Amino acid sequence: MKKSYVDYIIEETQKILAIDSPSGYTQNVADYLMKEYRKLGYEPLQTVKGGVLVKLGGKEEDNAILLEAHADTLGAMVCERKGNGRLKMTPLGGMNPNNAETENCRVITKSGKVYSATCQLVNASIHVNGEYNETKRTWDTVEAVLDEPVSSVEDLNQLGIHNGDIVCFDPRTTVTESGYIKSRFLDDKLSVGILLGYARYLKKEKVTPKRCVYQHITVYEEVGHGASATVPEGVTEILSVDMGCVGEGLECDERMVSICAKDSRGPYNYGVVSALVKAAQEKKLNYAVDVYPYYGSDAEAALTAGHDVRHGLIGPGVYASHGYERSHRDGVKNTLELLQAYLG
Ligand SMILES: [Zn+2]
Repeated sequence: MKKSYVDYIIEETQKILAIDSPSGYTQNVADYLMKEYRKLGYEPLQTVKGGVLVKLGGKEEDNAILLEAHADTLGAMVCERKGNGRLKMTPLGGMNPNNAETENCRVITKSGKVYSATCQLVNASIHVNGEYNETKRTWDTVEAVLDEPVSSVEDLNQLGIHNGDIVCFDPRTTVTESGYIKSRFLDDKLSVGILLGYARYLKKEKVTPKRCVYQHITVYEEVGHGASATVPEGVTEILSVDMGCVGEGLECDERMVSICAKDSRGPYNYGVVSALVKAAQEKKLNYAVDVYPYYGSDAEAALTAGHDVRHGLIGPGVYASHGYERSHRDGVKNTLELLQAYLG
């Protein structure tokens, strides 16, 4: 039974990953999510700034919990049209030029045209560029090379490509037979899939959680203000469902659900973290409690914006975050089961 929810989550995650949605260009993914929530039998609302808010239901309306995952991803924007027809980019969110280099991408113009391109080092041929190895990769030293015969700004004008156009990087999604999920932007589309899976579970199993549950799919998390608005009345707790950190010194791996005790902006609510750990222990889930050295979450954005709530953060373990990321279906399963156990 549980397995079918995990399968649904992975299928949905793949569909969501296939819709380009860097911060600032998220309408298409929001439209898809609105449709999917309606299919599940809910009545989603689109927020003014573009997110998706859904009331899943439950008792205790004055002690409600808001689950948050973000559908926006890293990406880039054209910031200078070079005289040779190449495009200089500025990052959207923390896109890192070291691993954006050599990735296929799409340039989306204001008129909706989509052009294929590659993010390359400037002067990228190693047989020509003697400085290839020594060049530090920055957004000044990589550029988008369009797959069009362009060699001037006039050529770019002809194509309708201008500053402010969005650049979307290929997610390169792969799911292996062994259950690993590899893709850019599993942060946080894997958790969006998990929230859909939890919403489906409530409907299918006719479960009424002991507290009223809302879900908010935010669209500006990667630039810091995703969840700063839209906290429904009665919400006393916000739980971010976002990627769990995996790396040296941390205990989580891709098969586990991570419970974050503290990140770079401070500790999570002690009562919430303790209750999450207790729920994971009781269900004998494969989990880890970790401290994330370089991380901030939507739940913290809500607190910073002035909302009086308790806050927590959980998510499936994701390795190589903000790069070519990897997680595993067991991490998905453990995260879903922690939500089920915690929300009752
Ligand atoms: Zn994230």
